Amino acid sequence: MNTVSRRQRLWLVTVAILVMGFLLFNRQPDAGLIHEFGGGTMGTRYTVKLVDLPPDYTLEQVAFEVSRLLQRIDREQMSTYAPDSELSRLNAAPVGQDIALSAEMTEVLALALALNRLTDGAFDVTVGPLVNRWGFGPEDRREDRIPTQTEIDALLTRVGSHYLELDSARHSLRKTADVYVDLSGIAKGYGVDKVADLLDSLGITSYFIEVGGELRIRGYKPGNQSWVPAIEKPVDTAPQVHEIFYARGEPIAVAGSGDYRNYFEADGVHYSHEIDPQTGQPISHDLAGVYVIDKTAARADALATAFMVMGTERGFAFAEELDLAVYFVTRDEANDTFVDRYTSRFEHYLDSGN
Ligand code: ADP
Ligand code: MG
Repeated sequence: MNTVSRRQRLWLVTVAILVMGFLLFNRQPDAGLIHEFGGGTMGTRYTVKLVDLPPDYTLEQVAFEVSRLLQRIDREQMSTYAPDSELSRLNAAPVGQDIALSAEMTEVLALALALNRLTDGAFDVTVGPLVNRWGFGPEDRREDRIPTQTEIDALLTRVGSHYLELDSARHSLRKTADVYVDLSGIAKGYGVDKVADLLDSLGITSYFIEVGGELRIRGYKPGNQSWVPAIEKPVDTAPQVHEIFYARGEPIAVAGSGDYRNYFEADGVHYSHEIDPQTGQPISHDLAGVYVIDKTAARADALATAFMVMGTERGFAFAEELDLAVYFVTRDEANDTFVDRYTSRFEHYLDSGN
C-alpha cells in the first residue's frame, strides 16, 4: 500500500512539474525568439524578422498579410514586368489624358518627383526608356546592347520628370510627353515602408524588414541587442560584410545602391544599371556602392540611386550639405582596394554604444 502511494506521489509530482513547465513555456512563448518569414517579390527576395507577435495573430497570419501587401505593390501596381500592372497601364496611356491613380501610386510618384527636384535631376523615374534600351529593363536584351549616340539623343527627348503633371489631391496624372516611368529605384524601399506601416498598425514594436537589400528596422532584438545591419563588400561574388553599423533602438531605414551586381561588360567597359538622366549613359566612375540611412526606405532607396549617379565627390558634398547619413565605398583600382568615406551624420551609427 505504502509503495503504491509513494509511486502515486512520484507520479503526481512528475505531472505537476510537467504542467508547470508547460504553463511557464506557454506564458512566454516568444521570449528570446526571433520569428522569421520571407518570400519572393519585385524580382528579388524579402525577409521579415519580428521579436514579439501581437496577441491576436499567429505568425502565419502576419506572413500572409505581408505577402498580400507586397504582391499588391509589386504585381498589381509598380511592376514594369507585369503587362497589366497599374504602372504598365500608365505607361501605355496616351499623352495628354488624365490618368486615375491609386493612393499608393500617387504617394510614390509625389515622392519620386520631390526627390527629382531635391537631387537636381539625378534621380529621375522617367529614365525608363534608357534603362530598357541598355538592357536593364523588362524588354528582351538586344544583340546591339550599346545604343548609338543618335538613339540615346532620341530617347532623351522622352526623359524628364517635368513631363509628369501630378495632381496629388485628385489622384490623377497627365503625361505631357511620351514618357515611360520606371519605379525600380524607389519601389523596393516603398514596399519596405508599407510593410513597416502594417507591422506598426498590428502593434509590433521590434522588427527587421528587408526587400532586396533595402531595410526598415525598429526596436531591439531579444536581450536588448541592437539590430546590426551590414554594408556589403562591393563585389559580385557571394555577399561579404564590408562594414557593420548599429541601429541602437532608433527606428531607421537603410538602402544601398551599387554598380557591382547588375551590370555588363563590353570591350573592357563596365556598364551599370544606374543611368545618368542627363547623358543617357550608364554611370561610369569609381563609386562602387553607397548606403543611406533615413527615416523612410523609399527616400533612402531613391537617394542611394541618386548618389550613384552623382559620384563620390558631388554626392559627398551634397550629403553633407543636407546633413544626410551616407556611406560611400569607392574603388581604388590602382591599389586593388576600396576607400570608405562617410558623412558626419553616419558616424553616429558606426558606434555600438557599448
Ligand atoms: P538596386 O535595384 O540594386 O537596389 P537602385 O535602387 O539603384 O538599385 O535602382 C536601380 C534601378 O533604378 C535601375 O535598375 C533602373 O531600373 C532604375 N534607374 C536607373 N537609373 C536611375 C535614375 N537615375 N533614377 C531613377 N531610377 C533609375
Ligand atoms: Mg535605389
